[in-house]
Amino acid sequence: MTLARTWSVGLAGVRGAMVEVEVDIAAGLPGVALVGLPDAVVRQSVDRVRAAIANAGGEFPVRRVTIGLSPASMPKQGSGFDLALAAAVLAAAGAVPEAAVDRLVLLGELGLDGSVRAIRGVLPAVLAAARAGHGQVVVPAANAAEAALVDRVEVLAVATLAELVAHLQGAGRLVPHVRGPQPAEPPVPDLGDVVGQAAGRRAVEIAAAGGHHLYLAGPPGAGKTMLAERLPGLLPPLDEEAALEVTAIHSIAGTLPPEAPLVTRPTFEAPHHSATMAALIGGGSGQIRPGALCRAHRGVLFLDEAPEFPRAVLDTLRQPLERGQVTIQRAAGAATFPCRAQLVLAANPCPCATAAGDTACTCSPLERRRYQARLSGPLLDRVDLRVELPPVTRAAWLDGLPAPESTAVVAARVARARAVARARLAGTGLSLNSEVPGRLLRDRFAVPRASLRLAERALERGSISVRGFDRVVRVAWTVADLAGRAVPSADDVAEALGMRLQRAAA
Ligand SMILES: [Zn+2]
Repeated sequence: MTLARTWSVGLAGVRGAMVEVEVDIAAGLPGVALVGLPDAVVRQSVDRVRAAIANAGGEFPVRRVTIGLSPASMPKQGSGFDLALAAAVLAAAGAVPEAAVDRLVLLGELGLDGSVRAIRGVLPAVLAAARAGHGQVVVPAANAAEAALVDRVEVLAVATLAELVAHLQGAGRLVPHVRGPQPAEPPVPDLGDVVGQAAGRRAVEIAAAGGHHLYLAGPPGAGKTMLAERLPGLLPPLDEEAALEVTAIHSIAGTLPPEAPLVTRPTFEAPHHSATMAALIGGGSGQIRPGALCRAHRGVLFLDEAPEFPRAVLDTLRQPLERGQVTIQRAAGAATFPCRAQLVLAANPCPCATAAGDTACTCSPLERRRYQARLSGPLLDRVDLRVELPPVTRAAWLDGLPAPESTAVVAARVARARAVARARLAGTGLSLNSEVPGRLLRDRFAVPRASLRLAERALERGSISVRGFDRVVRVAWTVADLAGRAVPSADDVAEALGMRLQRAAA
């Protein structure tokens, strides 16, 4: 046999695309030609494959070897094609039966010693193979649990190239990897831990019920981070489709815990304000990695000390958050990732960030205003809920406040409210109050005039804008859904109006 083919998978964003690997061995000067838009890492693949085959006891053909990757138009990135290249070369050389690799999909990087190394993006790759009707996929042993999340395909895990060769020759058959039980979820931080801060707790509950972005302002120690960390626990668990989607993103990002490969809970991502644009949005050389924004897909993106983030970074977040997806452009190509994340911003009252009332703070009122103004703009404009948390006084801790409600109790209320909203929005393609455009709020989902009087007065006085008015109405619907009222009452509108910073631009 001098011509052989096998399969691997390339990644375009979060989607896998089948790549056919063809190897032709012909008489002529020894050498290797690789065709079909390979990147630098794929080109180095030939050297790895050559060394690995030798160390697995095989022989790389000393003839003219042409390796084709198709479709040629699709850029090939990363080291995940190594195993497929090795199998196709061995089949073309007659070392393994051509029929054994003809329909096989192979994923994995080769070490020079012939070991098979883990790669990123195995889940989306195996999903693509299953969709394309392939029945068997060979993956690195370290990625077996992740690959086995896909039902319709048989997963063969290999630790070395020699193991694969023995299997293909029929000498030592590999046993398909069977999916183990999903390990128990680690406990989520509980809302019952947050003492006091009734307004903050309420804001997090409303945010969870309506999918509203949230802005928490307050002095250090007021519990902004504690509250933000408890938002994912109030959100419903991911359904099967969402779980696979989120897991695929984390697989490509390389952030999947190997012992618990399926992400079933909304994630919490808290990038530092010094994070680069690539870390936050996505990028990197070679295979494009999704950033914190994409890893927070169907979960929560928390920006603590939000005014410290560069303005350009904050402005960049707006459009992806609105569209629910982000496209990252690189010289090697573009990748699109979903990023339907819920945003939580937190800010201290002043740049020196000492507790309010602390005499150590020397910030002038102007400095404080400037600091908070850093956040204003198109991003904050999309935030429905803006809450100012008071400092927690020692008295509040000692006063024996009533035991706060637990995450389980609040999450149940959130789930009921979400079900009500979903039923009301049926047929619109929307499911959360935060997604309802202003046009529908004034038309199909209008709040009775009698309930709106307070908000209308605020609009007339100029203390809220027309956009701000829409935001109040959205939040009022969520408040009503939580209370089990069919339409928002005047009190619901009043509470929604109160869920705004007095000083922040409306
Ligand atoms: Zn200060």
